Amino acid sequence: MKQYFKDIFKSIWTIFVGMKVTFRHLFIPAVTIQYPDVKLKLPERARNRLYVNMDDCIGCFQCDLACPVDCIYIETVKALPTDDLGITSTGHKKRLWVPKFDIDIAKCCYCGLCVPVCPTECIVMTDVYEFSEFNRHHLIYNYATLTPAEIADIKAKAAAYEKEQAAKKAAASAQAKAAQPAGTPAAETTAKTETTPSTPPPRSA
Ligand code: SF4
Ligand code: SF4
Repeated sequence: MKQYFKDIFKSIWTIFVGMKVTFRHLFIPAVTIQYPDVKLKLPERARNRLYVNMDDCIGCFQCDLACPVDCIYIETVKALPTDDLGITSTGHKKRLWVPKFDIDIAKCCYCGLCVPVCPTECIVMTDVYEFSEFNRHHLIYNYATLTPAEIADIKAKAAAYEKEQAAKKAAASAQAKAAQPAGTPAAETTAKTETTPSTPPPRSA
């Protein structure tokens, strides 16, 4: 009988010990907030979703190279000498089209390394941190502003220009060779190189 009451007392005492912390917090102001109705002010240098201002992007790949998880995908096309892409707000001349600039934000670890390396300060951290998605493919953000038709046109013109330049180079090289008299040192050297065995002869002791 004595043991019976002892057990009852022990149980009640254990409940009081367990609730001690809870009781203490009844008299301390709450530290939780009613998110999402109430939001805390973010620290000044908080790292959240990235934004790229494509008007200032020169396609230099610095951000891509700095990214430790390879979640930035950039594609560039060289502008033609007749193209004027303008200058960035930081005064850098734009020489490349940027038909593709994607960031897979699902892979991003918010290290922020891509931000300070940008020479035109066009990739920045925003204060947006609510961007969850049901489909992870929706977390690949496309920042490029060119339309598919514009991209196709730019690529076709660039390919045609490259071809034209290669043809001009080949023609100039053929012309130079034709103008070279036979038996010149250059021709001899070429002939020597062609007859040189691919492996050197064994060295004598
Ligand atoms: S914040 Fe870090 S992980 Fe995210 S894109 Fe920039 S460099 Fe890559
Ligand atoms: S570092 Fe800046 S300018 Fe260079 S590719 Fe990245 S976003 Fe564009």
